Amino acid sequence: MEKMLSVWKTAPKAGLEVKEAPVPKIKDNEVLIKVKATSICGTDLHIYEYDPWAQKRIAKNIPYIFGHEVAGEVVEVGKGTGGISIGDHVSAETHIPCGYCYQCRTGNEHICQNVKILGVDTNGTFAQYVALPYKNAWINDKKIPHWIATAQEPLGNAVHTVFSGEVAGKTITIFGMGPIGACAVALCKAAGADKVIAIDRDEFRLGFAKEFGADVIINGATPGTDTRKEIMDATNGLGADVFLEFAGAPAAFNDGLATLRAGGRASILGVFPKPFEVDVTDGMVFKGITLTGINGRKMYDTWYKARSFLSTGKVKLEKLVTHRFKLFEIEKGMQILQKKEGMKIVLEP
Ligand SMILES: [Zn+2]
Ligand SMILES: [Zn+2]
Repeated sequence: MEKMLSVWKTAPKAGLEVKEAPVPKIKDNEVLIKVKATSICGTDLHIYEYDPWAQKRIAKNIPYIFGHEVAGEVVEVGKGTGGISIGDHVSAETHIPCGYCYQCRTGNEHICQNVKILGVDTNGTFAQYVALPYKNAWINDKKIPHWIATAQEPLGNAVHTVFSGEVAGKTITIFGMGPIGACAVALCKAAGADKVIAIDRDEFRLGFAKEFGADVIINGATPGTDTRKEIMDATNGLGADVFLEFAGAPAAFNDGLATLRAGGRASILGVFPKPFEVDVTDGMVFKGITLTGINGRKMYDTWYKARSFLSTGKVKLEKLVTHRFKLFEIEKGMQILQKKEGMKIVLEP
């Protein structure tokens, strides 16, 4: 049996294991992808650290190969994998829907009741090969290098969040400058936002906001900074038209809500560690705001939009890639992310 290098979660504790494993056998309706580049997501860091979320989510799946952001080449196709050919360059939509639940049958596969997530519930992309349902393979433009194409997932999350309402001519607060937040800054600027206000507590990350064209940058960790006052000043006392939350921090949520104008739109992608207190009455009801929860990417509306921003160069994803390592050096990448000294870390087998 052919062997491949792969990265495993083998024990219910912090860490990972790099080892050889058989190349996956594809089923009908699957394609085999030779991984050319894979990248580390926040989710992978949770899995590596085996934090409370990971303990709850992946205990039953161990041992398995993790990782889900990928770009590679199709080397084998199963029966009935229409539209995908050997040699295609592809990335993966990581939500694998059941296809038959209420949500799947009403155009909302991204919130499928029985969803499986690549590299969380199934063997993932931190490997030389990965098997993927053909419907989840997204064909990339061959002009885009694999090490850039692998970072499309965070771009997709940003596209879904940003375009869940109007953007052109709007003032927009964006909380949380990880890769997704930074992409959101670029998208808002490209889509004609009036003013983009980027907020984080980390100077390194805020540097990317600047790079991607944010008009106002607020570092909430700087002593003496009053985030709410700075946002109100930047919006002439009105508050922002749109509030995008990527930080997953209660303080960010409440600052964003407090500085959203009456009638504004809040779109929340951040995942919060536990329930927290929110002023629903004054912050939401009387202000008549619209609040949307954002999960994953719309399949595949979001991907078409993301492709357009990527291929026209309006969003320069390559700027987010701070490190490129060999797959077996993955632990180095995890440690850089733990120290918050990197944005997108790409691994090449
Ligand atoms: Zn991801
Ligand atoms: Zn479903």
